[in-house]
Amino acid sequence: MTDLHRLTIRELSEGLQQAQFSSRELTEHYLKRIAKIDTKVKSYVTVTAEQALAEADAADAALKAGNASVLAGIPLAHKDIFCTKGIKTTAGSKMLDNFISPYDATVVAKAKAAGLVTLGKVNMDEFAMGSTSESSYFGATGNPWALDHVPGGSSGGSAAAVAADLAPIATGTDTGGSIRQPASFCGLTGLKPTYGRVSRFGMIAYASSLDQGGPMARTAEDCAYLMNVIAGHDAKDSTSINKEVDDYVANLNGTSVKGLRIGIPKQYFNVSGLDAEVKARVEESLKKLEEMGASLVEIDLNMTEAYVPTYYLIAPAEASSNLSRFDGVRYGYRCENPVDLMDLYKRSRSEGFGAEVQRRILIGTYALSAGYYDAYYVKAQKVRRLIQQDFLKAFENVDVIAAPSAPTTAYKIGANLSPTEMYLGDIYTLAVNLAGLPAINAPVGFDQESLPVGLQLIGNYWSESQLLSIVHQYQQNTDWHTKRASVAEETA
Ligand code: GLN
Repeated sequence: MTDLHRLTIRELSEGLQQAQFSSRELTEHYLKRIAKIDTKVKSYVTVTAEQALAEADAADAALKAGNASVLAGIPLAHKDIFCTKGIKTTAGSKMLDNFISPYDATVVAKAKAAGLVTLGKVNMDEFAMGSTSESSYFGATGNPWALDHVPGGSSGGSAAAVAADLAPIATGTDTGGSIRQPASFCGLTGLKPTYGRVSRFGMIAYASSLDQGGPMARTAEDCAYLMNVIAGHDAKDSTSINKEVDDYVANLNGTSVKGLRIGIPKQYFNVSGLDAEVKARVEESLKKLEEMGASLVEIDLNMTEAYVPTYYLIAPAEASSNLSRFDGVRYGYRCENPVDLMDLYKRSRSEGFGAEVQRRILIGTYALSAGYYDAYYVKAQKVRRLIQQDFLKAFENVDVIAAPSAPTTAYKIGANLSPTEMYLGDIYTLAVNLAGLPAINAPVGFDQESLPVGLQLIGNYWSESQLLSIVHQYQQNTDWHTKRASVAEETA
């Protein structure tokens, strides 16, 4: 079989359970594709071929014995921010270039327990700070739709790997858009769950009150399968919520688009940087949902202008605190020949961290410093509350809120956006994290350069099932999610 990489997660599961092919065949198929095609895409930082084949054999044994779980034997890629026992976890940084975690992140452990096969670890912006994956110490990743363009970020490796058919599914993390924006840039479906739905244990922290892991895949159905594995309470993460987990696969048709009230924030569609084609494709997708029975309701989200400044105060503040542990002493990069302890700290950190990470640490440390704490950090927290209230008020009248995931399609590699230009590109995704809400990206077409455009649907707390269901039905009525980049059409 040469087209195993074209199968959906459900088809892969059925094929494995019915012994149409083995997990070893499937895993070898993907490893072969990675060896050939990833030389161009550069989505993987580490390929764990040997371990993957051992896991595949274990899955095959379970399948043979008839006691394999639904996803047993299906390969996946993990963002290199999730700790993996015995395998390097770099977070895209020179600082962790030599770091091998002594334990698995809960997401990784759950994937293993479900019998999923880890193909490797995929590229990302350094410590998940960025929107292009270019800040990775390991170099840029190409967007499968146009290899001289970025796949987005920070989960750019996850998006590129799936879009190039180098993994059927991947994990990502989203602090301010890092699942949704790369999914949008690469024509994929990506879900950022409600804060607390997926354990953060073993996920290297960027901004702890905003970070959330989630699935990236071609379709809502594929995402639902992975959500069924990774969602749930974890005693090892005090912010994970002890609340029953939905069966996301069983609920894929659980929400009716007929009668669904979709909120259209007035402020969002008048943003000056919104590309005309992105706007057009998003509006067309909304028209389609309307044809399917939804009604579009104009709403106000008055705090829109505050999103970027609030996020870029709170996220760096938390980052400066989280990243203080990387000091060259306990683990991570250590400079050569330090003359004294101060020199060791200073040089290890300035040589180990890249420019964007240093910028965030400086901004965050400044905002948290004694003289400015109230003026900046406390104030930003108050604005954060107002942003959350804005959404809660909107959800009194609508079921979900629609927006673009990003104001543009993928940038060119090396476009060298200024920090503020880049931060403004996050306008549509940041507020969701500040409020702790779930949101999903779905591919809804292309611009004139054949680069994908994404629609974002934002839901109320714990509405993951609803979001997946709406996108699933949209995908039953459209074929954007079936389109393949030419590099994905290549055979190994
Ligand atoms: N682009 C945003 C940032 O740089 C979001 C990143 C993320 O979600 N990890 O902070």
